[in-house]
Amino acid sequence: ENHYDVLIIGAGPIGMACAIEAQKANLSYVIIEKGALVNSLFNYPVFMTFFSTSQKLEIGGVPFVTISPKPNRNEAVEYYRRVAEKFNLNIHLFESVNQVVKKDDDIFEISTSKTSYTANNVIVSTGFYDVPLLMNIPGEDLPKVTHYYKDPHLYAFQNVVVVGANNSGVDAALETYRKGANVTMVVRSGDLGPHVKYWVRPDIQNRIKEGEVKALFNAELIEIRAGEVDIKTLEGIVTIPNDFVIAMTGYQPDFSMLRKFGIELPKSLCPVYNEETMETNVEGLYLAGVVCGGLDTHKLFIENSRVHAEMIVKNILN
Ligand code: FAD
Repeated sequence: ENHYDVLIIGAGPIGMACAIEAQKANLSYVIIEKGALVNSLFNYPVFMTFFSTSQKLEIGGVPFVTISPKPNRNEAVEYYRRVAEKFNLNIHLFESVNQVVKKDDDIFEISTSKTSYTANNVIVSTGFYDVPLLMNIPGEDLPKVTHYYKDPHLYAFQNVVVVGANNSGVDAALETYRKGANVTMVVRSGDLGPHVKYWVRPDIQNRIKEGEVKALFNAELIEIRAGEVDIKTLEGIVTIPNDFVIAMTGYQPDFSMLRKFGIELPKSLCPVYNEETMETNVEGLYLAGVVCGGLDTHKLFIENSRVHAEMIVKNILN
């Protein structure tokens, strides 16, 4: 009843791809997802456009049809929901996996926020979007600070600081500027991030050049207070009025969860797994999707990690 050949943790695109492969191979499986279906995508900024073309986001061989080459967040959420429907995937939503333990008989025991399961194999496809990289500065816990930017309208006519100049920071700065926010970007390095989408880069460069978006490079936010923030710059500390801080400082996999499951994490925090089978140091316990990248969250995305599904199921069948 509660025993499966494969238990998959996380219903992101890659967890879903694993479920489809398991189903094709006639393995019994369940996905346990702590939030909504494709919960990370659900929590992306509402107007976000993927850097990948639709085709590269496809799973299970289902065409992802969009008019423009690159889909937005809303189209992607709709696509993955339709895929889950088409395959009638066995998914338990709003249930969080707390622990995975391998027992003496080589069977995994999985305890969740609702119940417990046993499984012959476990796939951890938990992504990296649940743990933001913190600035660890005074005031970071104020309600006006967010690590999850959603909708620019909130920031209309307000003084906004955007921390970081990678894709998330640049998108947030441009969107809020266009809804009438007074935006200051605070950027630790001397330039915009190297991965900024090539079609967005000229837009932000020109806004900065025109002074429409202010940008402080080689600068660091050091304290947030109710009505202002302190920024450390090469010229000294600058204090500016502030209503909201959008901290786009990046995310990281939940390392403590991986450790708790028994997965080895070297100093580099890049989890240990066999690159041909995706199996970890624990036999029968697999990693899939962007969680595998560790701290390097730019290495893996949907198009180059959806293959993990086939690799894992092939190994399970052997
Ligand atoms: P996720 O989609 O993150 O799925 C992990 C799931 O596991 C989540 O639903 C989470 O709720 C669940 N989970 C976590 N812990 C538990 C637990 N303990 N119990 C139960 N469930 C749990 N990639 C691209 O390929 N193209 C892009 O254009 C692109 N744009 C991006 C834009 C942004 C703003 C961000 C943040 C990422 C982007 N990415 C992009 C990378 C993105 O992480 C991947 O596309 C995709 O989400 C990875 O899929 P995944 O299934 O590995 O992980």
